Amino acid sequence: MRKSYEMVEQKLNLVSGLQLWQWRSRAIAKAIANNVPVAEIDWLLQEVAGLDRLALRLDSFKDKAEIIMALSLEELDHLWHRRLDDRLPVQYIAGSTPWRNFRLKVSDAVLIPRPETECLIDLAVMAARSEVSSQLKQGHWVDLGTGSGVIALGLADAFSESTIHAVDYSLEALAIAQKNADNLGLADRIRFYQGSWWQPLAALKGQFSGMVSNPPYIPSNIVPTLQPEVAKHEPHLALDGGFDGLDDIRHLIEFSPSYLKPGGVWLIEMMAGQAEAVKMLLQKQGSYENIQIHTDLEGVERFALAFVSAE
Ligand code: GLN
Repeated sequence: MRKSYEMVEQKLNLVSGLQLWQWRSRAIAKAIANNVPVAEIDWLLQEVAGLDRLALRLDSFKDKAEIIMALSLEELDHLWHRRLDDRLPVQYIAGSTPWRNFRLKVSDAVLIPRPETECLIDLAVMAARSEVSSQLKQGHWVDLGTGSGVIALGLADAFSESTIHAVDYSLEALAIAQKNADNLGLADRIRFYQGSWWQPLAALKGQFSGMVSNPPYIPSNIVPTLQPEVAKHEPHLALDGGFDGLDDIRHLIEFSPSYLKPGGVWLIEMMAGQAEAVKMLLQKQGSYENIQIHTDLEGVERFALAFVSAE
């Protein structure tokens, strides 16, 4: 009996409100001393202890006899120290992040989805609408380099009549993406493939309505200079775009026309300062028309959109 009680207790990770309140007070002091945003603590407690913002603001959780946590207090404390000492991103501690209307599972096998990447879905919707006659909202769409699955999930949500394909080189990333699709009830809309860019999709050549990708685009020599949260913890496979950051973008420009239908959408995210080069590469390839550069919410030229020419 005693044993099973202990097992249940361990699984539920019960703490008293007072214990958690004391932990939070210490965590806040350490965050300030280490230049980590204090707001991360309350966000983390919402994620791992199910506390709401009001309870945190009013300190009312302090009086609760029991709070159920996804981690033990020791684990939470250990991970919070890794946040401070080792710059582990808070989303990897929580194991989750918000993105558009989703709550997504993340681990250090995947890039933490960024707010600016959310715009890719709106641009895809806009692009599909602009070619009314070709019915781009239907048919096959692909997310190349899916990572946590965000773009594929966003496309599945936006294009209810289409089939979404999602490719990643990393099996670990695909496991996270599949889990996210299961959790969000979108698994029957997305097919996952392990491989390099278009390679697993040879059977569907010429049939895609659209391709959307957030490929690695940081120049190799810049990657180690990024903030330590990124450089030390996020997968370099998802960041490092080679010498000038454009290796994977060049590959996507070169190979996509044979996979997309005439009029099909080509849409990527890129780094600040790459817009001119990407536009020129698209023009030079010769199979694209209506090439557009779009800015993110901070006004940075962040996205390139083009359509495969009809002939
Ligand atoms: N936006 C990411 C960053 O700022 C990079 C993502 C990518 O390379 N696709 O670190």
